Amino acid sequence: MASAPTAYVVSQGEELLTGLTLDTNAWFLCRSLTEMGLVVRGVITAGDRLEEIEGALLRATTGADVVVCTGGLGPTTDDLTSEAAARAFGRPLVHDDEAMAQVQARYDAVGRAMAPSNRKQASMPTGAALLVNRQGTAPGFSIDVGQGRLYCLPGVPSEMKSMFAEIVSPDVRAFVAIDPPLRHTFRVMGQGESQLQGLLGDVPERFPGVTLGFRAQMPENHVKLVAEPATPGWDDAVALVRERLGRDCFTEDPTEELAAVIGRLLLARGHTLATAESCTGGWVAHLIVSVPGSSAWFERGWVTYSNRSKREEVGVPAAVLEEHGAVSQETARAMADGARAAAGADWGVSVTGVAGPDGGSPDKPVGTVWVAIAGPTGTRDRQLQLGARDRTMNRRFSTWLALEMLRRQLLRTPVPEAPQPGPETVP
Ligand code: ATP
Ligand code: MG
Repeated sequence: MASAPTAYVVSQGEELLTGLTLDTNAWFLCRSLTEMGLVVRGVITAGDRLEEIEGALLRATTGADVVVCTGGLGPTTDDLTSEAAARAFGRPLVHDDEAMAQVQARYDAVGRAMAPSNRKQASMPTGAALLVNRQGTAPGFSIDVGQGRLYCLPGVPSEMKSMFAEIVSPDVRAFVAIDPPLRHTFRVMGQGESQLQGLLGDVPERFPGVTLGFRAQMPENHVKLVAEPATPGWDDAVALVRERLGRDCFTEDPTEELAAVIGRLLLARGHTLATAESCTGGWVAHLIVSVPGSSAWFERGWVTYSNRSKREEVGVPAAVLEEHGAVSQETARAMADGARAAAGADWGVSVTGVAGPDGGSPDKPVGTVWVAIAGPTGTRDRQLQLGARDRTMNRRFSTWLALEMLRRQLLRTPVPEAPQPGPETVP
């Protein structure tokens, strides 16, 4: 096999060197380029001085077939990437009418007048190809340097990402011959890294050439299989891991979130969901509404933080709160039942716990959390002892484990033969 094409990433911006901004662009680009089958040789961070940027671009383009640079395309005087590229490769800046029209169109779209300084954004090195930015004002450009190609993209992460996906990635695939490696991701709940190692550790021995990797994204774990193209036994290796993980794997799509999986399961059953959250403060609902289209299955959610709200909003009996306390099996069950009933939903999820750092007691230490799931076949609950993690971690774990418990209950609930009409469907 021909050796894999190489890449370099250049991140431009003084704020990356002073630590004000975390370089998430490089992280995104390294991952994306690697997944495409390029070998990333390095990342260079350059500040705002012209000669630093020029040096970085020169070094990167001599070291790789593909260079992606982000930042420094804005209208201000510290945005010097175009000028640096012009100097580095002896391509004087020229005004580009198409780029100018794009910047103008962007201002027209948001109904604002363009500042004179924006004219600068339409200057590109001679021979550069314009890369359209549909989300912001700074257009990008690409230029061929020797055998390689340099892409300059704006620094704003959302703009950079959409331009990478829409323009750069297809262009790179056409420009360099890539034979992307085989890769498969399993997203897992309920198994720690060491358990996964025990469960799957023999896979690389059984299938030479297949590597096994784990990535903890607490409390999820991601299992990755990678191999060179056309490695024998690849499909069998994937099937074996799938079989061993069973229901602990909630998706094999690396970009699909747990809440999206729950949405799929609810939709298939024609069911709806309501939430009543205490210590997670709406985090469960936040993950749910982050899923596009969740209005089809999410009815409503409450943040019932005080005892009064638990009584008034989701009907937890005062006697239950008095006798057992807000963090208790009985309260969690009453919250889930109450949310389900008050919303007229098929499912109710509740979370109540001691997130810390204060508020723990000998019988309910920090990290004591109760989760309950009320559904068509009854109400189930579970106590979590999350230990002495910090407040955010306790809340994060509670959120994910509540969703995971709901997923398990949904898997036990049969899918009807014909899809049920949703709540909004007019018969
Ligand atoms: P603009 O026209 O918006 O100024 P630009 O191409 O000039 O675009 P920069 O000014 O370098 O981009 O960066 C804009 C913002 O994008 C920065 O304030 C920063 O928040 C973010 N940003 C820039 N580079 C990075 C990076 N490498 N990682 C994460 N965020 C970044
Ligand atoms: Mg800028």
